[in-house]
Amino acid sequence: MGRDLGPDCRLCRREGEKLFLKGARCYTHKCAVARREYAPGQHGLKKAKLSNFGIQLREKQKVKRIYSVLERQFRNYFLKAAGTKGVTGHILLQFLERRLDSVVFNAGFAKSRTDARQVVSHNHVSVNGRRVNIPSYLVKPNDAVEIKTDARTTNAIKSNVEITKERKVPAWLNVDTVNLKANVVRMPMREDVGFTVNEQLIVELYSR
Ligand code: SF4
Repeated sequence: MGRDLGPDCRLCRREGEKLFLKGARCYTHKCAVARREYAPGQHGLKKAKLSNFGIQLREKQKVKRIYSVLERQFRNYFLKAAGTKGVTGHILLQFLERRLDSVVFNAGFAKSRTDARQVVSHNHVSVNGRRVNIPSYLVKPNDAVEIKTDARTTNAIKSNVEITKERKVPAWLNVDTVNLKANVVRMPMREDVGFTVNEQLIVELYSR
């Protein structure tokens, strides 16, 4: 299935919670979840009781939408996590956090993950001195991520830093907002994930 090109706010309303997909707008009264606390569509106001499968599916969809990854890519992360030593759910989240677009977002260089993906794919980011334009590139400890671009884009990213300055930077990143650099100090851990998630539900869904 391809990428959902519909309105982002509709995705939040479907999950019944803020997924922070639109950057600054998400923190204002314009947020659609705050204004219309029900699912989109004709039957959105009807509250259906979810089955176990439904609950697991919604949790998986939520995480997939937050990181803006496609189903196949998400399942591949799960398979890789399942084949890695450790707690599968934690490792799955670790893979998602380690994505380069996620690092750019978490460092505050982009207002939303969608913006972060664009910053990376438009070739504005280097890792250890080499340009990387693959949003799914996985960073590792001691990697140095840096914004390297023209003056105009640098100014735009600096204004993003100003907008996102209230956002908490996870402890596994050491961010220099003046020089637009972020160092990966360690692997992300479960407690570094900045939203509420029950990853066990996702593991159960894929283990059916
Ligand atoms: Fe979701 Fe942001 Fe839209 Fe609110 S404004 S519904 S958090 S994308």
